[in-house]
Amino acid sequence: MWSDKQTSGFTPVKGYSQTHLVDRKLLYGPDSTPCSAFVLGQIIWFDYALRYLSQIEAALVKKRKKCLQRRDLDPALLKSCDDLLAETREEFADLEQGMLVTENMLPEGNVKGAYETLREDPSWWLRKELVRECIARGGCCARRCGCCENRSLDRSKGHGLGHCTSACHCCAKTGEWWVTTERRAEMIDILGDSLHSRDPEYLVKMADAFFEPQKKSALAKLSERLVRKVKTGIAEWREKRLERMHLKQIEKLHRVEIERVRLLEVKELLAYNACYFDEKDWECW
Ligand SMILES: [Zn+2]
Ligand SMILES: [Zn+2]
Ligand SMILES: [Zn+2]
Repeated sequence: MWSDKQTSGFTPVKGYSQTHLVDRKLLYGPDSTPCSAFVLGQIIWFDYALRYLSQIEAALVKKRKKCLQRRDLDPALLKSCDDLLAETREEFADLEQGMLVTENMLPEGNVKGAYETLREDPSWWLRKELVRECIARGGCCARRCGCCENRSLDRSKGHGLGHCTSACHCCAKTGEWWVTTERRAEMIDILGDSLHSRDPEYLVKMADAFFEPQKKSALAKLSERLVRKVKTGIAEWREKRLERMHLKQIEKLHRVEIERVRLLEVKELLAYNACYFDEKDWECW
């Protein structure tokens, strides 16, 4: 399992560039766990491709909504939207299967532990290394329009959430850019080439961002401690309040019970008295 003491990320093995693509390895962590560079590259590639399809889907949903709002509804346009949406969703499901299979190929222990620990935070990809990358590629983080942050609010998907790809509707600012299959294939191929290049620099940089759990800053640690303190304070206060409420309730119940007993006694006394007087009266007779 990944432990907080592990700080170093990935490093390429000696002779990386001379090795065949499927045999290349990166070493992870202080105990240098060997990990297939191909598997790491494929995970990063699948992540991009899934984000790409997710962003196409989001654009199509928007387009479909606009289409339905129009008074002169164009049935052909609506049908083409629906067909593309179905096709995109099917492709997403296929790619996600590929991603799941590849994730299973990660070595158990440090590497898988690090990968899973990082993803415990649903907005893990808003880490500064990937935000910087999005800015460098001219994504929404460069314009601060909030699209990347908003994607972190989507809980409907396990994969396909993250920074802008060339399919981001907001980045493109036009309505017709995303449909060309050639452009899609071209972009995804370029990324694959960079990840599986003989020069490991890009892969190491991306693998570190995709795997290495974030080190907490002193400020983050301090704010965590403060939140914990406030939470404990609230819990204690709540407990005391409950105790007081409890006491008050007991007192109230007690008062009701006393009243009930008192009423009973009075009734009994009256009954006894009645009887007594009856008897007495009878005796008198
Ligand atoms: Zn945007
Ligand atoms: Zn964007
Ligand atoms: Zn971004």
